[in-house]
Amino acid sequence: MTRYVQPVPAPDDPYAGDTLLRSWLERQLGAAGHAAAKGRLAGLAADVAGPLRAAHADAEAHPPVLVRYDPWGARVDRIDTSAGWQAQRAAAARHAVVALPYLESARGTWGAAARVVQHALLHLYGPESATFSCPVAMADGAAALLSLPEVDPSVRDAWLPRLISTDPDTAITSGQWMTESQGGSDLARSTTTGRPAADGSWRLTGEKWFCSAADSAMAVALARPEGAGRGSRVLAPFLVPRYAADSPLAGAAAPYAPAPGVRVHRLKDKLGTRALPTAEIGLRDAYALPLGDPAQPGLVRAMTLVVVTRVHNAAAAAGGMRRGLAYARAYASARHVAGGVLSSSPLHRATLGALAVDAAGAFVLAGHAFALLGRVEVGGDPAAAAELRIVAPLAKLATGRLAVGSASEYVESFGGAGYVEDTGVPRLLRDAQVLPIWEGTTNVLALDVLRAVSREEAGPPLLRRLDAAADLARPLSPALADTLASATAELRERLAGVAADPQSVAVVAGARDLALRLAHTLTAALLLEHAAWGDEQAELAARLWARRWLRHEEIAADAHHHLELLC
Ligand SMILES: Cc1cc2nc3c(=O)[nH]c(=O)nc-3n(C[C@H](O)[C@H](O)[C@H](O)COP(=O)(O)OP(=O)(O)OC[C@H]3O[C@@H](n4cnc5c(N)ncnc54)[C@H](O)[C@@H]3O)c2cc1C
Repeated sequence: MTRYVQPVPAPDDPYAGDTLLRSWLERQLGAAGHAAAKGRLAGLAADVAGPLRAAHADAEAHPPVLVRYDPWGARVDRIDTSAGWQAQRAAAARHAVVALPYLESARGTWGAAARVVQHALLHLYGPESATFSCPVAMADGAAALLSLPEVDPSVRDAWLPRLISTDPDTAITSGQWMTESQGGSDLARSTTTGRPAADGSWRLTGEKWFCSAADSAMAVALARPEGAGRGSRVLAPFLVPRYAADSPLAGAAAPYAPAPGVRVHRLKDKLGTRALPTAEIGLRDAYALPLGDPAQPGLVRAMTLVVVTRVHNAAAAAGGMRRGLAYARAYASARHVAGGVLSSSPLHRATLGALAVDAAGAFVLAGHAFALLGRVEVGGDPAAAAELRIVAPLAKLATGRLAVGSASEYVESFGGAGYVEDTGVPRLLRDAQVLPIWEGTTNVLALDVLRAVSREEAGPPLLRRLDAAADLARPLSPALADTLASATAELRERLAGVAADPQSVAVVAGARDLALRLAHTLTAALLLEHAAWGDEQAELAARLWARRWLRHEEIAADAHHHLELLC
């Protein structure tokens, strides 16, 4: 008897096979702009489907190890990572996954839309990067923060070129040390303090509880400057060199010895993101450089970084969903069940079709956030800044939740094989679960959305986009236009209620529902805008998204019927 061996799923090329990504780029960049990006994107996709897929598996199989002492007893706190992790690091630099929006050549070619190209790179790179996408996000956030005019040029000149280097030999990433044991969401509880030294540098003392990418050459740490008082607004961002070579306090220490005053207590044993070293770190008079004037309220500066990492989180969610879909479709086209090949089952096709609708929605939401970010950074577009204020938390929270629900379905779509570690499938679910937690849980972001609406007038720019999309929808589908118009009317009323009494129990208790409703309606509008440009796939996705998420209707029959077009 021959032993049956299950087919290995072979997904499509992540760039060539992603029609929505390609048409999105065609619209956002124009034909010439997209043509200018094609070489980069195809090159990265080829690496992802080849050496990076292998590196991803290696990094997952060989998690980082903290080596606290050298053989002679000296404290070294070294974090050893796998060859796969190093390969991911080198690829992120080579493919300019962080650097692209900062490169003059890229800004020359694509202007503000360099962020759109970067989003496409992240969409391809992230899902099989063993979560190197996390250090990538934080390096980008740190680079954005260092780019602020308030930052001392000598600090910027020393560190920014390394963060945005495309040479793997010189490129670095950054950690981000905000969360403390007594409060992650509630930064006001932070107890890490900073005191100035005579030479303009500072010394930080405190305990940081969740420090991802702890092998990075630097970190941005939040600390309370001495005498600054209570609350979160006064917390200031500081750059902390991780290694002795970058710390003037270290004398002639070895290049990769930890900077004095920086102790790695232990690495976290996490549900997912296992290749990513996440540490608990103690600071005792650690050398630090202020990023802006610590006498000025610093949280607003740190938010520059947080907005960047939040939109990266949305990109990671959307990219993971798309890759999950590609794997699930590949498996279904080779797996046989009662009735024939799995991909011909109407029920399985309907399941995949609904997932494809969600993946399309998450993609345009993340894509829109990146497009807005580019317009804010290049040209300082005030309308884009006003919209990004609310779109960043909305995109992060909505895609995070979608990613977890979708990942569970993807695992299930592989049957028992989806539950077996060395297929690589279980990590889809494990890694998705961090997306709604870090950089703001769903509820914490929903409260941020309330603040944006009640204190920063973030509602009107969003409502204007929704109104315009309902008008665009009318010639395509009156029913869809009506759905969008009535969802917008309901939101207008709810936002007025928030503005009238933002602290009321009803408003606070309903914050998550409101935020998700805003995000889902915005997603319908974004799909429609793309449909109105002439994209058939987006038109179908818009119709099905609106029925699924705005009217809560069953879409199985259509999802089954149109699966190929949706993918
Ligand atoms: C894998 C991973 C990597 C991470 N990496 C980093 C890192 O590199 N740097 C870093 O600084 N942090 C990092 N974090 C920490 C992360 O950002 C925090 O865990 C997160 O912000 C939540 O904070 P917390 O753990 O203190 O939970 P809490 O804030 O205590 O939240 C607990 C619960 O309370 C809810 N909650 C909190 N406040 C409110 C409120 N006002 N109203 C209603 N509900 C509320 C939350 O929604 C949550 O459900 C990481 C976390 C993970 C899981």
